[in-house]
Amino acid sequence: MARVAIVTGGTRGIGKAICLALKEDGVTVVANYAGNDEKAQAFTKETGIPAYKWDVGDHEAALAGCAKVAEDIGPIDILVNNAGITRDGTLMKLSFEDWDAVMRINLGGCFNMAKACFPGMRDRKWGRIVNIGSINGQAGQYGQVNYAAAKSGIHGFTKALAQEGAKFGVTVNAIAPGYIDTDMVAAVPETVLQKIVSRIPIGRLGHAHEIARGVAFLCADDGAFVTGSTLSINGGQHMY
Ligand code: NDP
Repeated sequence: MARVAIVTGGTRGIGKAICLALKEDGVTVVANYAGNDEKAQAFTKETGIPAYKWDVGDHEAALAGCAKVAEDIGPIDILVNNAGITRDGTLMKLSFEDWDAVMRINLGGCFNMAKACFPGMRDRKWGRIVNIGSINGQAGQYGQVNYAAAKSGIHGFTKALAQEGAKFGVTVNAIAPGYIDTDMVAAVPETVLQKIVSRIPIGRLGHAHEIARGVAFLCADDGAFVTGSTLSINGGQHMY
């Protein structure tokens, strides 16, 4: 039986590439998304991968969404916590709402989804959780106290949950992407982006499929001895 994976925020950007990479590896994949129905429908039409809508930051919705996926498709073996948002601004300008939304979705989403998926993985003695962090959670970034805190939190969450899963065949790892050419980065002003690229030793933005290959490795059977790790895929930026 093929393993079942759920990729949050799987309908576009890095998440879409992760869905395709896992599918290529023979996994039965389901994508989750927040609200862009048009993109989700186009994604399903193009890839044949079903897309389920819920807000990962909503605890009850995440539990109900995962229960529905398990009922429709089968028990979830692989969870990729990829959904994320930015609401940038210096502390002086950042509202509580923008702080809260980023913490609730980026970090709270990992907790909510793990609460739904981890118990079954533990019971069945096999599971993979990959959390998408960020170079900005490792290094911090001007104007991103909310995003950097949430992503840094993901790296701690990963190491703690890895210790809980280790004896039960459940690995928990993080990937810390550098700057990748998705809609999220398209929102960064061109002048700022040029400065960012000048600091990347490889001299370009990353591509979504370059993150996806890392995820696919961590989710494979032969990724079994890697847990509590953060894989930095960033073109050499900061050389973590
Ligand atoms: P995109 O903005 O391109 O896509 C975001 C995806 O997440 C969409 O599918 C979106 O759904 C979904 N999403 C957003 N909010 C929620 C929510 N509350 N519940 C469920 N799904 C949600 O993002 P990227 O592909 O660029 O980024 C993917 C991940 O990688 C994020 O965690 C991001 O922080 C991280 N990252 C990205 C980097 C980059 O350079 N792009 C660098 C480092 C990390 P919908 O389409 O419905 O809105």
